[in-house]
Amino acid sequence: MSNIDLLVRDNIRQLKPYSSARSEFSGTGQVFLDANENPYETGLNRYPDPLQREVKEKLAAIKGVRPEQIFLGNGSDEVIDLAIRIFCRPGTDHIIILPPTYGMYQVGAAIADVEVREVPLFPDFQPDVEAILTTANAHSKLLFICHPNNPTGNLMDTRAMETLLDGFPGIVVIDEAYIDFAPEYSMVKYLEKYPKLIVMQTLSKAWGLAGIRMGMAFASDAIIDYYNKVKPPYNINILTQEAALKELEREDQKAAWVEELIRTRELLAAALREMPMVKKVYPSETNFLLVQVTDPLGLYQYLLEQGIIVRDRSRVLLCDGSLRISIGTASENQQLISALKEYPHA
Ligand SMILES: *Cc1c(COP(=O)(O)O)cnc(C)c1O
Repeated sequence: MSNIDLLVRDNIRQLKPYSSARSEFSGTGQVFLDANENPYETGLNRYPDPLQREVKEKLAAIKGVRPEQIFLGNGSDEVIDLAIRIFCRPGTDHIIILPPTYGMYQVGAAIADVEVREVPLFPDFQPDVEAILTTANAHSKLLFICHPNNPTGNLMDTRAMETLLDGFPGIVVIDEAYIDFAPEYSMVKYLEKYPKLIVMQTLSKAWGLAGIRMGMAFASDAIIDYYNKVKPPYNINILTQEAALKELEREDQKAAWVEELIRTRELLAAALREMPMVKKVYPSETNFLLVQVTDPLGLYQYLLEQGIIVRDRSRVLLCDGSLRISIGTASENQQLISALKEYPHA
């Protein structure tokens, strides 16, 4: 058995996956009488390609990986959920998370009745490598690293991640939901070196496609094979696959959005630093800013009354008194600045 096989739950290793009509047939047919579909063409009467081959081919070219190294999920949520179910035995195994971080890792584990061990980031939001490796044992199946991190906005140190990839006994999952805003730091280039690495990305942020629900995992063929074994057979619907195929042609549009969002992020950060109620604007490599303010709950409520919704992170570990603010259009950012200038308690 390979290293990956040894980490996988016994029931998953032994699982005989559901065999769908469309996955049993290969070649090119003209008359499809295998799946009890309605034969009258609507564009949606057929089941989708269970392996999303066209989308993966396009993505593979964009990301510099092979299609066999890609799993597509119904949002990143499915990528996280399946990782936990493939590797973690409830009551025995655990995952390690590095708070403050994205909330779905913990929720995914809670749903699966899998223990979560927390190793807080240092105050500069970098991972405590020594503490992670001391905490880890043979039951530490997954380590979730969010890079850049939500809600703090920073990239994780590459050397620290390399040390963790070398020393962590389980699978290292690096969530790169925001990597389009700092693409040169992507860990995708480490896939060949580390068969126990999963890199997650999504079309929900830079690509502007949160509504179609498409998350991605890039990993060794062995890990992707397990994903394909446990996933619901038709997890990516036809509308999503078609939209992804069309939008992945628009890399120029995405690049232009990223450039504009980075430019306006820095303008907004500079404007916020001038505001009397702003104590700190943390540096960001994403499309949001973490901003520490004097009266977070009062300010949150005030903005809400102005119709401006931000995220209250003020009670989150290491984020005391902070709000998380997504970068909007130039006009939306201006509305925020104007509202802050009118803030009565400043
Ligand atoms: C937004 C976000 C995602 C994306 O989730 P989807 O389900 O793909 O929309 C994943 N991870 C982090 C850290 C995020 O902030």
